[in-house]
Amino acid sequence: MDVLFFWIALLSTVAVLAYHRASLTMFSALIAALLAVATFTDTVGVVSWVLFLAVALPLNIASIRQQYLTKPLLKLYRKIMPEMSTTEKEAIDAGTTWWEGDLFRGTPDWHKLHNYPKPRLSAEEQAFLDGPCEELLAMVDDWHTTHERADLSPEVYQYLKDKGFFAMIIKKQYGGLEFSAYAQSCVLQKLTSKSMVLSSVVGVPNSLGPGELLQHYGTKEQQDYYLPRLAKGLEIPCFALTSPEAGSDAGAIPDTGIVCKGEWEGKEIIGMRLTWNKRYITLAPIATVLGLAFKMQDPDGLLGDKKELGITCALIPVTTPGVKIGRRHFPLNVPFQNGPTQGQDVFVPLDYIIGGPKMAGQGWRMLVECLSVGRAITLPSNSTGGIKAAALLTGAYARIRRQFKLPIGKMEGIEEALARIGGYAYMAEASTTMSVGSIDLGEKPSVISAITKFHMTERMRQAIIDAMDIHGGKGICMGPNNYLARGYQGAPVAITVEGANILTRNMIIYGQGAIRCHPFVLAELQAAGLEDERAAVTAFDRALFGHIGFSISNFFRALWLGLSNSAFSASPYADATAKYYKQMNRYSAALALMSDVAMGTMGGDLKRRERISARLGDMLSMLYLTSAVLKRFNDDGRPAQDLPLVQWACEDNLHKAQVALDEMLDNFPNRIVGAVLGKLLFPWGRTLRKPSDQLDHQVSRIMQTPCEARSRLATNLYMTLEPNNQIGLVEKALTDILAAEPIFDKVVHAANKRLPFFRLHEVAALGLELGVITEAEAEKLRVAEQGRLHTINVDDFDPLDLAADKSLFDTKPKAKSAAA
Ligand SMILES: Cc1cc2nc3c(=O)[nH]c(=O)nc-3n(C[C@H](O)[C@H](O)[C@H](O)COP(=O)(O)OP(=O)(O)OC[C@H]3O[C@@H](n4cnc5c(N)ncnc54)[C@H](O)[C@@H]3O)c2cc1C
Repeated sequence: MDVLFFWIALLSTVAVLAYHRASLTMFSALIAALLAVATFTDTVGVVSWVLFLAVALPLNIASIRQQYLTKPLLKLYRKIMPEMSTTEKEAIDAGTTWWEGDLFRGTPDWHKLHNYPKPRLSAEEQAFLDGPCEELLAMVDDWHTTHERADLSPEVYQYLKDKGFFAMIIKKQYGGLEFSAYAQSCVLQKLTSKSMVLSSVVGVPNSLGPGELLQHYGTKEQQDYYLPRLAKGLEIPCFALTSPEAGSDAGAIPDTGIVCKGEWEGKEIIGMRLTWNKRYITLAPIATVLGLAFKMQDPDGLLGDKKELGITCALIPVTTPGVKIGRRHFPLNVPFQNGPTQGQDVFVPLDYIIGGPKMAGQGWRMLVECLSVGRAITLPSNSTGGIKAAALLTGAYARIRRQFKLPIGKMEGIEEALARIGGYAYMAEASTTMSVGSIDLGEKPSVISAITKFHMTERMRQAIIDAMDIHGGKGICMGPNNYLARGYQGAPVAITVEGANILTRNMIIYGQGAIRCHPFVLAELQAAGLEDERAAVTAFDRALFGHIGFSISNFFRALWLGLSNSAFSASPYADATAKYYKQMNRYSAALALMSDVAMGTMGGDLKRRERISARLGDMLSMLYLTSAVLKRFNDDGRPAQDLPLVQWACEDNLHKAQVALDEMLDNFPNRIVGAVLGKLLFPWGRTLRKPSDQLDHQVSRIMQTPCEARSRLATNLYMTLEPNNQIGLVEKALTDILAAEPIFDKVVHAANKRLPFFRLHEVAALGLELGVITEAEAEKLRVAEQGRLHTINVDDFDPLDLAADKSLFDTKPKAKSAAA
């Protein structure tokens, strides 16, 4: 064996073992075997054995390793790791990890992904969607709600209460609907497709709020009293956390609850004196019970030694003397009930604390635990409903609206924006379904909920911008016939609430993901925090050396998968989707490697390097969203017609993952590390491309042509044909236009002249006169013309109708304004 061959064999052995995550013992045994062969053939001598044993023995003998390596490293670790605040610790401890953990760890098991059950509706849930949801939506007129009344009508509120819309999460034993997370998501998607106000009003009580908190932490008395009342709509809840001084930094609320003695119902008791100033609180103006978060203090030691008890949540009936409530904010012309509330020295008993006095100071933990569930359902579902509605409406509009004698949807420029909406619609449905499905499997997915919240709301904003651009003036002129503008106006609401998006992307996704999904980081942190030094060294040893092996393995995996462009890596299918699985193997390994490199080179400073953290989070998010797309395709039975949508979504996501990795390496604080890894991870340059123009064309075609793939995009939208449901009307117009086109062509051919595709009633008359069409065909042309006009026309108003303060105008608004 010559020396060169020996070194190649040694390096290959190390690389293959690392790639397959072999144990330290296996490593040592195989290298020893290789050395033995090399000694036998006189290729290596004693020096090699000495070097090998000097490394292998201390590493393999636990007592030596712990004494001489682990102990000093633990000391160093404790010195460099920054202190974590209690709120940070509680946020990290809250919730569970699921499939995103596999993606984070660099070796996703695709069979495991596809074996997660597809979420399904029970017969009762389906009946609710087909019955009460449809009935409710028929009652709602969105223009009336958003413009004329600035609220839902009393009849709609009553219907919501009567049918249990506010009680989807409340257990049946208390009179609630106890729906699965998937069913809640379907209901919210359907409501959004007609009215954002409606889905916001329904979403909030079913998300983070008194109902959720009471079911998890309430005392039996609280549950027995409140839950049946919430289920019947006798109580309207809201949850008040945000203060003018504490928005994103919610743990810093200045609102207080001072433990003190006071008089309650004629007796002296120990209670709390609450002082708060909250804003932006959804449903507060009409709430009957206020879920209030405040910092509890016990300065006189009435409850024990602890003076600062911490964040606490209580339920305060709004009839309690001193509670101020009722005024409204005006959120971006999507006027759901939202407003401030204040209280000054409002005395209440300790029993008002959710879970009773023993839960004093447990508020933050309660909130973050529940947030991981609610955040994965409400905003992602509302956004998904919005994107899907935009996809259907814009696809139809692009086919109906003609300019330059062509449907605008046939123009390449429009196809680009249209395909983005279609790809996002497919992806949004896929990832929201997968995320809520995880909740139904018993998870409390804190990382997934942040990923889904951020990306669904961002994609919704982009989709609605694209839809507006495609609609031109039709999207801009507001009125009962405008089905886009409120979505466009309201998009920033979803971006801002439940963790404003910049914060969510830069801090939360990776910040929680790194610690929760990494197989060793949390174990290292916990080991370092142990008081028993022996136990700390043993636990830290296990975590640290596991971590080192994991990092070495990720290095070789990322290197090989980059070098081979992932050509030989595993995919569960050998069809057009195989390349996406393979690229995900590659980016998953790269994420695992970069995560360790970032933590290793920046340590605690990574918390402040938000843009590095954001891009690591982007990689994780793109992997998660792509796997959701592939799972949906699989769960739907791999229908060939959906393939362009699947390909578009996968290619867009994977390209975004590549951009994130590329930009991170370009901006890596340690320039040498960034440059070296740039060469290693991208040996052939940036190989992934955005969806091609051809793919954009295919997706646009699906969106403009009634077909199974398009119908699947419309799942759970309110498509019913009725006078004030624009999606139903525009869908009908699309079908009518498509039916009229061949008849129109027949008339054009017979008349031997190029006619414009409008005034179809005149074309009908000409066709009858020429005797080339039947009366039934003429009627189809007339019906298509009506639908066409309804679709392209916009509203206009008497000037007085638009003025909020009509008293300024007397009866002749124009004359008065001119004089002014
Ligand atoms: C319509 C509406 C309804 C709401 N409903 C409720 C409700 O029912 N109950 C309730 O308690 N609250 C509610 N909120 C409050 C909502 O949760 C907050 O608005 C949100 O937490 C952001 O706080 P803020 O608006 O004060 O923004 P700020 O905290 O001032 O943030 C401003 C910007 O700074 C960014 N930012 C902040 N910190 C960081 C960071 N560390 N890194 C990077 N960027 C950062 C944010 O992302 C944001 O872009 C609602 C808000 C709105 C607008």
